[in-house]
Amino acid sequence: MSNVAQNLKKVLADLPEGVRLVAVSKFHPVEMLREAYDAGQRIFGESHVQELMQKVEQMPKDVEWHFIGHLQTNKVKYLAPFISMIHAVDTVKLLREVNKQAERCGRVIDVLLELHIAEEETKYGFSPDACRQFLESGEWRELHHVCIRGLMMMASFVDDREQIRGEMQLAADLFDELKQKYFADEPSFSERSWGMSHDYPIAIETGATLVRVGTAIFGERVY
Ligand SMILES: *Cc1c(COP(=O)(O)O)cnc(C)c1O
Repeated sequence: MSNVAQNLKKVLADLPEGVRLVAVSKFHPVEMLREAYDAGQRIFGESHVQELMQKVEQMPKDVEWHFIGHLQTNKVKYLAPFISMIHAVDTVKLLREVNKQAERCGRVIDVLLELHIAEEETKYGFSPDACRQFLESGEWRELHHVCIRGLMMMASFVDDREQIRGEMQLAADLFDELKQKYFADEPSFSERSWGMSHDYPIAIETGATLVRVGTAIFGERVY
């Protein structure tokens, strides 16, 4: 068995039922994606549009591509025809653009709202209050070509596991609050995307439904 297949198997063994794995393959060659594919993995996460477009060409058609990085509005049009989920919708402007491009393609695109909870200032996303305000505004109800499936976040990149847990729990609590207030009748609002190679076990404990794992499967990235 290849390294990739072995690593994949190990990560999958850690995931309880109901938690899906996004194999984060950014910066890794398509040969490695193929190894994961051959071992049964179908959901792949990428964070650069051009790189993703090249890989789409070379991979089988039944791959579910998730875009997990920061997305510029002017690049949405490239993803709209095929993307399965956009994890990091961090502005209303981006959500409107995804809606517009999805409409052009006759699709409804699944998206997650990205929360900014981590202490790092550079991270993108809605603050919890901005997220509440946005949903309260109701504009999203008019955007019929996007489906808000849930929330996404990245915890601070620290060793302090209690801090990581605290940030993820905050996201989980906000999810419950928003679910009750705006999506009680919509089973589609069900996804919690958090957890990476170093913190996905904590993510599982705090209710993640999608974990985004790269290094633990494919090894260190060479930039
Ligand atoms: C790169 C990346 C990951 C995966 O990180 P690893 O530490 O390699 O598991 C997860 N989520 C996002 C948004 C990323 O950009």
